[in-house]
Amino acid sequence: MTDCSFFDQSLLKKYNTSGPRYTSYPTALEFNSEFTNEKFTSALSQSNNPNLSLYVHIPFCHSLCYYCGCNKIVTRQKHKADTYLDYLSQEITNRAKICSNKTIRQLHFGGGTPSYLSAKQLSRIVNLLKSKYNFSNDIEMSIEIDPREIELDLLDHLYSLGFNRVSIGVQDTNTKVQHAINRPQSFAFIQKLIKRAKKLGFDSVNIDLIYGLPHQTQETFKQTLVDAKTLDADRISLFSYAHLPSRFAAQRKIKDEWLPSADNKFILMKQAIVTLSSLGYELIGMDHFAKPNDELAIAQKNGVLHRNFQGYTTLKNCNLLGFGVSAISSVDNTFSQNNKVLKDYYQHIEQDNHAVVKGLTLAADDLIRQYVISELMCNLFVDKQQVSKLFDIQFDQYFAEELSSLDTFEKDNLLINRVENIQISPSARLLVRNICMSFDIYLNQHINQQRFSRVI
Ligand code: SF4
Repeated sequence: MTDCSFFDQSLLKKYNTSGPRYTSYPTALEFNSEFTNEKFTSALSQSNNPNLSLYVHIPFCHSLCYYCGCNKIVTRQKHKADTYLDYLSQEITNRAKICSNKTIRQLHFGGGTPSYLSAKQLSRIVNLLKSKYNFSNDIEMSIEIDPREIELDLLDHLYSLGFNRVSIGVQDTNTKVQHAINRPQSFAFIQKLIKRAKKLGFDSVNIDLIYGLPHQTQETFKQTLVDAKTLDADRISLFSYAHLPSRFAAQRKIKDEWLPSADNKFILMKQAIVTLSSLGYELIGMDHFAKPNDELAIAQKNGVLHRNFQGYTTLKNCNLLGFGVSAISSVDNTFSQNNKVLKDYYQHIEQDNHAVVKGLTLAADDLIRQYVISELMCNLFVDKQQVSKLFDIQFDQYFAEELSSLDTFEKDNLLINRVENIQISPSARLLVRNICMSFDIYLNQHINQQRFSRVI
């Protein structure tokens, strides 16, 4: 990718507002407690979709990274994980009863820190899942790894359990930056981990990088990018650090004056995108990179990229079943979410064998907007005629107000609104969220936009 026309700083400044990342539409803010477990089980048991993706949330972490905005529990008391796995097992076993006719196409362990679990604990959960659900032969099994406090041979164990994708949190390799975010880690060990993963035969290795962290400068970040090059990962996720100390207590440990200014943060982002592109990576969506022969890059070229709670994916039409504290499920036209507080999750599982506390049944209008937003986020394009046909509407009439709000983007050459389709320009690549916000009917209800991170 050589076209970096999306770096018009004045436009990026103009549109750098807060907005959802649209891993779902409607966003989780719309979930409500009127949605019950009965609605969830009825959706799952009546669904004609045979494909399921499973998500397992492991909330524990060894220590607190100060930039973190995740739902996690920091503890060094390893036995707590055994208790958690008891409840998780109960939930997994109970749900299996209505999944006998489903095929599991994807399994993802996220957190918190899934690699907080010992080899024995990981075996316990994976073997339980395998015994209760029908895993497809070509299942994608992925796990997030914190490269601290693990042994190299954990990878051998994960591979023997069937994991074929790993994602490693690198973030930044500079020691001053690492110290400020309370995440010192050995780059040499990360190198060994990735070498080992490749030797074992993992299909894909992903690394995470973050820009906008305290003490990051062009110089330090240049070295992080040089280091990232040597890792030769298949995919790279590039996240923007969102400093929201009023929402995330841990971030109060990061002093405002340590952070790069908005202009410098923009330079760091540009530096990362230009460097990773020059290394041969393709930009996927707004913030992911993949080698040109990676299936994500191919799906993007073919206009068949999809998006779920874990980010971009090639898997279409997979219902999602989430296990564990705070986990989200998405089944046909429903979303549901488990209790977010650990002790309440335990109590709920103990009493009811499930922990669904809220969710949403999508109305016809939600489904139309969900489709449009997903097409724009993934493929930078929406075929109006196709939407009209699929949902039995007249696109231009149905979205008359939304289309008029696109005028400002059109004037800035960020999109073309044709009779047949809407095409987002390459120059708006980093502003797709803003354009999607025009189709989000709930956004105006959230006056406190600080609930979302800034676009850049
Ligand atoms: S960034 Fe990851 S490892 Fe660090 S505290 Fe948050 S969830 Fe845990």
